[in-house]
Amino acid sequence: MSVSAKTVVAGVAGAPVRHSLSPLMHNAWLKAAGIDGVYVAFAPHQDHFKTFAEGLRGGAVMGINVTIPFKEQALALADEASALARAAGAANLLLFHEDGRIEARNTDGEGMLRAIALQAPGFDLLGGPVTVMGAGGAARGAVAALLEAGVSDIRVCNRTLDRAERLVEDLLGFADAAVVTAFARADLAVAGAGLVINATSLGLNGGPGPDTPWRLAAPGAVAMDMVYKPLDTEWMQEARAHGLRTVDGLEMLIRQAIPSFAAFFGAEPPELDVRTLLLAAGAGG
Ligand code: NAP
Repeated sequence: MSVSAKTVVAGVAGAPVRHSLSPLMHNAWLKAAGIDGVYVAFAPHQDHFKTFAEGLRGGAVMGINVTIPFKEQALALADEASALARAAGAANLLLFHEDGRIEARNTDGEGMLRAIALQAPGFDLLGGPVTVMGAGGAARGAVAALLEAGVSDIRVCNRTLDRAERLVEDLLGFADAAVVTAFARADLAVAGAGLVINATSLGLNGGPGPDTPWRLAAPGAVAMDMVYKPLDTEWMQEARAHGLRTVDGLEMLIRQAIPSFAAFFGAEPPELDVRTLLLAAGAGG
């Protein structure tokens, strides 16, 4: 990769950020597309993210992806935000416009929906209720994207019921025709569901996912696990043993990066097997 005076710069900011797969993915796309751009990892100090991001006003850096623990702060400091970012209460993408404005977006939910379309072809998202296990930032992004896509019955199931109830309240009115309900009991939340999403951190680095009564899901249901380490989680294996199709978190990670790349570099990423590249670099291991 050669860097010139015209090189467009973008990146990812997080703490920690050294494990991020985003630089590998974006730089591979840049190289394959022949775009004079570079994507780097920034590790601002935990207490100084706001100063760091404010310093980028004006577009010297096109934009950054934002990861843990800065997603909420990123939304708060932006001058404008997409409806999805506002509904999710977090941003994973900041764009620095030449006139000084900072724009926040959230592409996690879009990544999730694109991954489902790819790994569960033919699945009808609007064909039945959707259960979201978890009520943290990832669950908020998922519910917002499901509402935007037109899903009319969403059940949010979380260990801490209060948190699920807050999520439901915060998203009230985002899509008038939809019913979003908070549950603490998985059997009530999963009954008849066509899609079950694990948006908890359970299963990360191995071990069981959230307790899920698979036999209660609708015939032909799909299970989407946001956890991508390991790639094939115990939760996904259980789902398949009960006849469900599964979608993995690595595909979601790849798909959420596509709109970011387009926003930074003004072109869709080229056809490239980044999944194999990421797996070879240890993703999912
Ligand atoms: P978060 O805000 O910390 O939320 C964690 C969620 O997990 C909460 O609902 C929490 O329930 C639940 N949880 C944690 N430990 C639990 C336990 N022992 N028993 C039951 N529930 C438990 O995290 P997040 O940012 O939403 O991320 C959630 C997961 O999604 C992570 O694994 C993250 O890596 C993944 N993710 C993946 C992608 C992707 O592109 N693939 C993108 C975003 C996030 P309580 O409210 O009861 O604590």
